[in-house]
Amino acid sequence: MELLYEAATIHRQHHDPNTVQVSTLLSIKTGGCPEDCGYCPQASRYHTGVEGEGLMTVPHVKAQALRAKASGSSRVCMGAAWRNVKDGPEFEQVLEMVRTINKLDMEVCCTLGMLTENQAKRLAEAGLYAYNHNLDSSEEYYKEVISTRGYQDRLDTIANVRKTNVTVCSGGIIGMGEKLEDRAGMLVALSTLNPQPESVPINALVAVEGTPMEDQKPVSIWEMLRMIATTRIVMPETQVRLSAGRTTMSQEGQAMCFFAGANSIFAGDKLLTTPNPDIKEDMKLFELLGLKPQKPFLKHVHPQTIEPEESQLKPLGEKPKWTRPKHKIERNEEKKKESIKIKREVKI
Ligand code: SF4
Repeated sequence: MELLYEAATIHRQHHDPNTVQVSTLLSIKTGGCPEDCGYCPQASRYHTGVEGEGLMTVPHVKAQALRAKASGSSRVCMGAAWRNVKDGPEFEQVLEMVRTINKLDMEVCCTLGMLTENQAKRLAEAGLYAYNHNLDSSEEYYKEVISTRGYQDRLDTIANVRKTNVTVCSGGIIGMGEKLEDRAGMLVALSTLNPQPESVPINALVAVEGTPMEDQKPVSIWEMLRMIATTRIVMPETQVRLSAGRTTMSQEGQAMCFFAGANSIFAGDKLLTTPNPDIKEDMKLFELLGLKPQKPFLKHVHPQTIEPEESQLKPLGEKPKWTRPKHKIERNEEKKKESIKIKREVKI
């Protein structure tokens, strides 16, 4: 109770407690990812039934953004299941999506994997408001979750984003089998970034069948509350986002999270590939609690879009050597083997 009280007090000193920022997450390229994140149904090495989909067209993205705006979202966050951004026609298409949504007077966020400085600058020129790149867990526990890249790669990408005016969104997931120390370690890593991320999503693992973490026990509301409250205390100015795992939370549980300092949610019936509450339900809850959606560009200025013909920046065709750590994660290896077997049987 003391933790909640302290968090709620700090929250009220730094934010309007009755305003919640609403983002809509859009999967612009789904599945087929070469990475091995143990929680993710989009990793191609696991058998999760997620149908791969190529990159969305710009008009499709625009239509989805307009829908999101009409239902009260101030931000569109576009996620692509890529290891890293590669210069080429697909990245050019993403840049066009950013320009298009920015002109709709909505905040645009992207989560596209690892990013070079030049790519970050090109996104900034297109009008990107935020870049999401989660640290997921503590540096120590990261090695138990992902073996295809290292923690430093994450920090390097965040540092590349920081060379622009694009804001940083970075958080993590609880319920992956980590210890309390790992949760604290992640908050230390995030809160000692200078400056601290403008947005920190806190996710409860959604254990998807076929992933290496399918048997993880669900996170209790108390663990989530504790995490939200601690995040609020150590990062007073940040927008703390109540992210994956909301479908299993009661209205009372969510209300407690808002009280303890959560002031952002993801809206829309899907969070990339996992279920999420319907926005109409969210708006009913907002009404009940006297909350209102935050207007866009309240915290930071509206970035200006620089058209490609006026830009000095060009694709450099870089091929950065992002890490490929050699360690093996037993549960990921097991799940990969099982998946190969299932995929073979399905073919036969
Ligand atoms: S979390 Fe992202 S990088 Fe990891 S497997 Fe899923 S889509 Fe790929």
